[in-house]
Amino acid sequence: SGLAQGLEEQIRWNEAGLVPAIVQDAVSKEVLMLAYMNRESLAKSLASGETWFWSRSRGELWHKGATSGHTQRIRSLRYDCDGDTLLVLAEQSGAACHTGKYSCFHNEIDREGVTTEAAEPAQDRFRMLAELEAIIARRYAERPEGTYTTYLFDKGLDKILKKVGEESAEVIIAAKNQDNDELRSEAADMIFHLMVLLRERGLPFDAIMEELGRRHNKPTTNKMR
Ligand code: AMP
Ligand code: ZN
Ligand code: ZN
Repeated sequence: SGLAQGLEEQIRWNEAGLVPAIVQDAVSKEVLMLAYMNRESLAKSLASGETWFWSRSRGELWHKGATSGHTQRIRSLRYDCDGDTLLVLAEQSGAACHTGKYSCFHNEIDREGVTTEAAEPAQDRFRMLAELEAIIARRYAERPEGTYTTYLFDKGLDKILKKVGEESAEVIIAAKNQDNDELRSEAADMIFHLMVLLRERGLPFDAIMEELGRRHNKPTTNKMR
């Protein structure tokens, strides 16, 4: 099967030679989907670093994203205590569900047993931003000693503006250098300092999200610069 002997024996394959695999977003921790792997799809997943499953309906090996482009890059692969379930922590591109939903688990059962549409978890990919905003707000309010964020707030608006300027220049340099490791790091610095600036100015991040939403819902014009 191409699987290490030890691993093959650790997994409790069912009668059909399959094991259920739960796919979880490695960043948001949202549960994305459940699908089945056989020995060959597990071997292919390990070799390629992307998820491969066995499609029970089509009776064939299935590279997730082969037609949709919505592949899953594997960050970590685990099996549970009794080896009857796999857990795949993955970076999801686009939507995990073939319906176009980010997570397959979008059907909410209410107390009466009626199915409704679950709250769209797409934003959960950006939960980190909400957490970061909360941390920055706490630093602003409490000014704990020895943190960089406190230092920025104590120095004040001009210092924060200088940092936003520097970081945006560094983003430009990283992109020009075609260095994506550097770009990732500088983009993170820029977003962090931008959020510090928004806190200093008392502008909630939600206001930025709403602004983006308003633009998104407008008919397209050529005024975007
Ligand atoms: P994809 O692998 O995303 O290119 O999708 C190819 C086909 O696989 C779809 O048309 C569905 O039949 C099936 N499929 C994709 N994602 C899922 C999923 N999360 N759960 C069940 N079937 C799926
Ligand atoms: Zn189990
Ligand atoms: Zn689905």
